[in-house]
Amino acid sequence: MASTETVLHLTGIRKSFGDSEVLRGIDLEVAAHEVVALIGASGSGKSTLLRTVNLLERIDDGVIRLRGEDISDPRVNADRVRARIGAVFQHYNLFPHLSVLDNVTLAARLVHRMPRADAEQRGRDLLASIGLADFAGAYPDRLSGGQQQRVAIVRAIMTGPELLLLDEVTSALDPELVGEVLALVRSLADGGTTILMATHEMAFARDVADRVVFLDGGRIAEQGPAHEVFTTPREARTREFLARML
Ligand code: ADP
Ligand code: MG
Repeated sequence: MASTETVLHLTGIRKSFGDSEVLRGIDLEVAAHEVVALIGASGSGKSTLLRTVNLLERIDDGVIRLRGEDISDPRVNADRVRARIGAVFQHYNLFPHLSVLDNVTLAARLVHRMPRADAEQRGRDLLASIGLADFAGAYPDRLSGGQQQRVAIVRAIMTGPELLLLDEVTSALDPELVGEVLALVRSLADGGTTILMATHEMAFARDVADRVVFLDGGRIAEQGPAHEVFTTPREARTREFLARML
């Protein structure tokens, strides 16, 4: 893999909370246009890993490179890095006191200095593309959880981030709302968005991810092409995990 094709490159990432080491030396690369799924039991470190990439957690050791730039250097401006990365989490992604359109356009306008008219045009186009054009002026509480997560995803891609981080974006949703969110993620993946996502949706990971990374106790226990990890896992721990999940 040529280095220019590598969007995210993690080497030797370690992170402790108090006495508990949550990430124990993570090496991981995500190539341009690749979709990588992080799987693993609750507490295995998936969210912490995603949060370190977004500089929401400071790492204790290791290096995080975004397109070759060491973003784990403490002198780096975290806001400037986050402006290059889209992120959507499990809960509470939208500002309740802002309209859907303002939610979608706020960062584009304030952080990326996109003129309001351009931001609103793009925001409306994106909302239309997910069937929510009529909700542009509504407040988030008028939307279902699935609609809110789709708006959050659209907001995250407003300015064409170099990397999209998704942390269990469907796990707080009622089952009937999961499909519409996964369909949007799938369409972004098909469109070439580079995605690193934690998910407990195993069928989705198998279908959409190019590569699956199994975290166990803060270490990568196994990784490989999705079809291989799911059909012929090499490690006993992976087999046990999948047997519980599938
Ligand atoms: P996952 O997303 O795979 O469920 P997490 O990354 O959320 O795992 O958590 C990994 C471990 O780190 C868990 O034991 C969790 O309790 C702990 N942890 C996560 N965030 C914090 C924090 N801010 N302070 C203390 N412990 C934390
Ligand atoms: Mg988590």
